[in-house]
Amino acid sequence: MHRKPKSAQRSKPAVSELATWAVSEAVSNGRVHAEPRPKTRGEFQRDRDRIVHSTAFRRLEYKTQVFVNHEGDLFRTRLTHSIEVAQIARSIARALSLNDDLTEAIALAHDLGHTPFGHAGQDALNECMIDHGGFEHNLQSLRIVDRLEERYGAFDGLNLMFETRAGILKHCAPARARDLGAVGQRFLDDRRPSLEAQICNLADEIAYNNHDVDDGLRSGLITLEQLEQISLFARHVRQALLEFPRLTGRRLIHETVRRVIDAQVTDLLTETQQRIAANGIKTLADVEHAPPLVGFSAAMQAENRELKTFLRTELYRHYQVVRMTNKARRVIRDMFAAFLAEPRLLPPQYQASGAQEGMPRVIADYIAGLTDRYAMKEHRRLFTVGEGVEP
Ligand code: MG
Repeated sequence: MHRKPKSAQRSKPAVSELATWAVSEAVSNGRVHAEPRPKTRGEFQRDRDRIVHSTAFRRLEYKTQVFVNHEGDLFRTRLTHSIEVAQIARSIARALSLNDDLTEAIALAHDLGHTPFGHAGQDALNECMIDHGGFEHNLQSLRIVDRLEERYGAFDGLNLMFETRAGILKHCAPARARDLGAVGQRFLDDRRPSLEAQICNLADEIAYNNHDVDDGLRSGLITLEQLEQISLFARHVRQALLEFPRLTGRRLIHETVRRVIDAQVTDLLTETQQRIAANGIKTLADVEHAPPLVGFSAAMQAENRELKTFLRTELYRHYQVVRMTNKARRVIRDMFAAFLAEPRLLPPQYQASGAQEGMPRVIADYIAGLTDRYAMKEHRRLFTVGEGVEP
């Protein structure tokens, strides 16, 4: 194994290695509840570790990305999606001399608030909550790390660093931002998030576009012939075949997808470096007041749009996917209505918090926290005579 000299292994990255516009512990707004500094890690490493150890993170293993968890063992789940996002985000952050620990923490946490059954589940829960403040998975991710995780004696939630929490809160309507205090303030002041947070948004997009192509091909719902109509893929299929003329099947797909990811990351790095220079960025405050700095070139953006449109029409709206999402919506709506009509169907601890938080919000927390398979089981227990009632 290739090893670095001992001194290099031990030394922590010096602050001077970070760009002057990166988030660092020195400029951080810290944690809501004061805690002693970690002895062997940085503060943002500690955040990442707290996220990895959380219950909500483990639940991602059984939550849908596009394909429901029981449809096949090789499709992405929310967990593997989050790990792929973290990998891409971390690589980009490091290449730009930004805080890669913070970037990784945000990426690993970005989907913690997702409901079971992917976007169909979130849309259904949002409809159920329409008169009770709505439901949005970003806000729910923040709610989980701020309040719902029960792990520490001294506080609710994970008590993460301000910048990690701010990065998780990707979008937020001004009305909601007012209730969130300091972490929502940038939406009221029209300030941009840190570059570390901006990277996570784009890494999310790179990850899901590419792995949805891979999963779509694996499922047979889309074909390589269809994909060859999409310029971004056509170009990289050609390049893969130039290098390996006889390549077919899964190896051709992987050789193509890895080239597309590489092309997108490279394009994003070049474009972002240019925007940082063009906007004369020197400090974190400059980042907050500049237009979005992390992004693709116009050409890559156009190709990306073409790919997204293709995925929407051919994969996300494929009748087999629609059948699944339709069923998923019904499961969520049925459960919500049943719990709202009779809150005593909820586990006792949820009934108790309903008194403080309002029953609809607590029902939304309960439903959002279910995994796909637990939601299906819970639905059967609520509606099928002869099913067991115990959890
Ligand atoms: Mg995501």
